[in-house]
Amino acid sequence: MAEKAPLVVTDVHKKFNDLEVLKGVSLRAVKGDVISMIGSSGSGKSTFLRCINLLEIPTSGEIEVHGEQITFATSRNGERKPADIKQVERMRSRLSMVFQSFNLWSHMTVLENIIEAPVHVLGVPKKEALESAERYLQKVGIWERRNYYPAQMSGGQQQRAAIARALAMEPDVMLFDEPTSALDPELVGEVLKVMRSLAEEGRTMIVVTHEMAFARDVSSQVVFLHQGKIEEQGSPDKVFNNPDSERVRQFLAPKY
Ligand code: ADP
Ligand code: MG
Repeated sequence: MAEKAPLVVTDVHKKFNDLEVLKGVSLRAVKGDVISMIGSSGSGKSTFLRCINLLEIPTSGEIEVHGEQITFATSRNGERKPADIKQVERMRSRLSMVFQSFNLWSHMTVLENIIEAPVHVLGVPKKEALESAERYLQKVGIWERRNYYPAQMSGGQQQRAAIARALAMEPDVMLFDEPTSALDPELVGEVLKVMRSLAEEGRTMIVVTHEMAFARDVSSQVVFLHQGKIEEQGSPDKVFNNPDSERVRQFLAPKY
C-alpha cells in the first residue's frame, strides 16, 4: 500500500461573512515536501494555514492529515464545525504551527514552553518531555538559553524556541506563517538556517514566506496565491525562472 500523504487539502473555501478569502485551494504534500507559499499581502496565505490546522473552519472543502479526513457537521445556526473535538485535538497534534509573532508564553521559561503541550496534551511524562526538549533546543542552537524567559532573548532566539516547541510535538507536518517577518534583518539568517536543516532532515513543511532565496533553494514545490486562488504552482525552477503567469513575473521582478 502506498504511504499515506501527510497532508491533502481539497478545494478549500473560506468566507468571512460576504468576503470570500479562499476560493477553492487544493494542496497535496508528500513526505519530505517543503512547500513554499508566496503571494501578496491579503492573498489568503495565513487564512489557508489557519484552515489547515482548524484555527479557522473552512466554509467548504476537505482536509486530510495522514490519511484521516476531518469530519464536519452543521450546527443549528447553519455554521460548519468539526464534528468531533477529539479528532480535532488529534489532528492538531500532528500539525504544528510556527507564527510570525512567536507566541511563546511570557511567564514560562523556554523549557517550560516546550514541554507544556507534550505533557498536557500528549500526556508525555515530564522527565521524558524535558529530555526531548533539551535535544530540540540543541538542534536549534539555544540550549544555553533553556532557563531564560522569552523577554530575555532576541527575536531570533525566541523564534528558534518556538520552532523547538513545534518540533516537540513530533508533528507530521510543520506549518510556518512568515516566521522571519517580525525579525530584525540581522536575525533572519539564524532562523532560516534552522528551517533549512529541518528541510534537509526530510520534514514535511508548509512555509508562507517572503524569503525568496529560501523558497527558491529549499522548496520542493512553490505555490503562488492570488486573491484566494492558486495562480501558479510548480517546482522552484519553474515558478522562479519560467512562470506562466504574468502576475508571478511581476511579483518576482526585482523591486527598487
Ligand atoms: P495573507 O496572509 O496572504 O496576507 P490573510 O489570509 O491574512 O492574507 O487575509 C486574507 C484576507 O482575509 C484579507 O482581506 C483579510 O482582511 C481577510 N481576513 C483574514 N482573517 C479575517 C477574519 N478573521 N475576519 C475577516 N476577514 C479576515
Ligand atoms: Mg499572512
